[in-house]
Amino acid sequence: MSYFKEIAVGFWSLIGGMAVTIRYFVKPIVTVQYPREKIPMSPRYRGYPQFVIDPETQTHKCIACEMCARICPSQLITLAGTKFPGEKQKRATRYVHEHQFCSLCGLCVEVCPTTALEFSPVYRLVGFSREDFVLDHLILLQARQQAAGLPVTKVPTEEEISAAIAAEAAAKEAREKEAKAKAEAKKAAEAQAAPAKEDKE
Ligand code: SF4
Ligand code: SF4
Repeated sequence: MSYFKEIAVGFWSLIGGMAVTIRYFVKPIVTVQYPREKIPMSPRYRGYPQFVIDPETQTHKCIACEMCARICPSQLITLAGTKFPGEKQKRATRYVHEHQFCSLCGLCVEVCPTTALEFSPVYRLVGFSREDFVLDHLILLQARQQAAGLPVTKVPTEEEISAAIAAEAAAKEAREKEAKAKAEAKKAAEAQAAPAKEDKE
């Protein structure tokens, strides 16, 4: 009797196992066939910080105020900016992010006064050395603009930056001279007016 009972239990166990297999066989596949298939990342996913592309100007909004560099606890942001002739604000001419030291704390994104930074959705970031994670945001921006079919933001050359700095210095000097001349003219006018006022008295 026990022999037939063992056969019945074994057969029942086989049926149970096959039922699970058959049930999953007809269900839709949930496994992502990476890397052939990719899942869309959550909007809250934090890849490396990157420049936001302004929909109006189709370029970045960084005014090189350096607030992100100062607040970064890992001190991994290096940037420079210049005010170009005809522009009202400074513009970033260099923005380097050493992502190998980044804790993705988000302070740089939060502190930015022009909302120029966001977290990228990039999750496939690989490299063979630390240097591979030194990211130039202006170059990355160009690649994204190209991919989106937008006009590419030119990275100014050293000569252009030097010329802009010289032009800004000259403009500042001219403004100071003008202000000084105005102050002197005002002083002279006041000095002329003072004796006339005394004569009347
Ligand atoms: S996310 Fe944090 S650690 Fe990374 S660059 Fe920004 S401030 Fe620095
Ligand atoms: S805080 Fe914003 S605007 Fe200022 S330097 Fe950083 S990214 Fe540029």
